[in-house]
Amino acid sequence: MLNGQLVNGSTNSAGEIGHICMDPEGPVCGCGKKGCLEAYASGTGMENFVRAELKTGRKSLIKELAESRFENVRGPLIGKAAEQGDELALAAIARVGEYLGLALANIHTLINPEMILLGGGMMALKQYFMPTLLETMKKHILPVADQGRALVREARFENDAVLLGGAAIFA
Ligand SMILES: [Zn+2]
Repeated sequence: MLNGQLVNGSTNSAGEIGHICMDPEGPVCGCGKKGCLEAYASGTGMENFVRAELKTGRKSLIKELAESRFENVRGPLIGKAAEQGDELALAAIARVGEYLGLALANIHTLINPEMILLGGGMMALKQYFMPTLLETMKKHILPVADQGRALVREARFENDAVLLGGAAIFA
């Protein structure tokens, strides 16, 4: 939103920040391109990272919790391992904060927003990634534009945001 108006873009694709490229050689995204933010800073991106690490033989409580089945390596299970201080789980969640923080800092440099609202399923693990996210943002935001920690807030509708937003457009 800019000046109270929804920004659509000339072909209605503005704001697709999940598909900002973080690394042209990065993992394949759901959109088919490589290295999109979403391939890192999403539940799926986090799960894929953990699976790849486990495949290299990295030790983790996650393997036990998932009963050695890669398809069982899901967000809530990674959260459970993080609760117990598992190093891989904590690193995988912090990695989400790092990529998201970097992308948000870049967006901040471009449009200097008043507020950034975060929502979605990953917010269930916010206690583990917010410190890294805020630290990474601070590192990359222009000092002159820095508003401090009040800039990033939690969205109200969690996983229903897309549905409610879509309905509001047609209401
Ligand atoms: Zn993508």
